[in-house]
Amino acid sequence: MSTSIPSTQELQTIRLSNVCKSYGDYPVLKDIDAEVSQGEVVVICGPSGSGKSTLIRTINRLEEISSGSITLEGRNIHAPMRAKELNLLRSRIGFVFQSFNLFPHLSVLDNVSMSPIRVKGVAPDAARDKANKLLDRVGLADKAHSYPGQLSGGQQQRVAIARALAMEPPVMLFDEPTSALDPEMVGEVLSVMKSLAAEGMTMLCVTHEMGFARDVADRIWFIDAGQILETASPEGFFKSPRHPRAQRFLADLR
Ligand code: ADP
Ligand code: MG
Repeated sequence: MSTSIPSTQELQTIRLSNVCKSYGDYPVLKDIDAEVSQGEVVVICGPSGSGKSTLIRTINRLEEISSGSITLEGRNIHAPMRAKELNLLRSRIGFVFQSFNLFPHLSVLDNVSMSPIRVKGVAPDAARDKANKLLDRVGLADKAHSYPGQLSGGQQQRVAIARALAMEPPVMLFDEPTSALDPEMVGEVLSVMKSLAAEGMTMLCVTHEMGFARDVADRIWFIDAGQILETASPEGFFKSPRHPRAQRFLADLR
């Protein structure tokens, strides 16, 4: 059998090559080289202001990059493209923000089914069926006809996850999805994320939840001042971080 053809497990879902980004003269990302394999769960951690949000936002092109390249399943995300093409590409990269960003005037069901109908052209009945299934999966089957304002923060964030999943993205990005939540709601969101990871979703998560990182991540990326200073297994990272800045970061958490 030929060994030159990579198995799907070996395919790189996301690859960042020499990615640099500046705001004016200020470099925020410095020569980032990293990849995420299919099914891999990566947790990005690092101090505040180190570039975590900027990094993750370049992946669905909410931020432009200054140089380098980013590919999703081999396709250049930062190539010139029309707005429609960019929207379609973005919809293939699920993004969950700290602030849930649901449409307040739409029901939960409409929030979840809207993009498949509008962007993908899925028939409304099929899109609603699927949305109901996803709401069931995040434990909110009974909230389909509620409005975001009637839900708790944890419930809204679970709707946001269902909404992203409705587009069947090959990868999900999370930027501090539990940071805006009251402590008692953090667990319900992390447990949805945990079950997604267990089902093989490729995930890139910025989070300060080190318990989640330890239990769920396949790899940790430690970022400081716009550079990935260390990538390691959670075990290696938490037990014996190599970079002095990572050592200090972990010491400060304790
Ligand atoms: P993190 O998510 O790790 O806290 P960010 O990616 O939000 O870090 O920010 C990295 C750096 O870039 C910070 O110094 C921040 O002040 C700066 N920054 C972020 N967004 C902008 C912007 N739109 N314009 C100028 N500077 C920005
Ligand atoms: Mg941030």
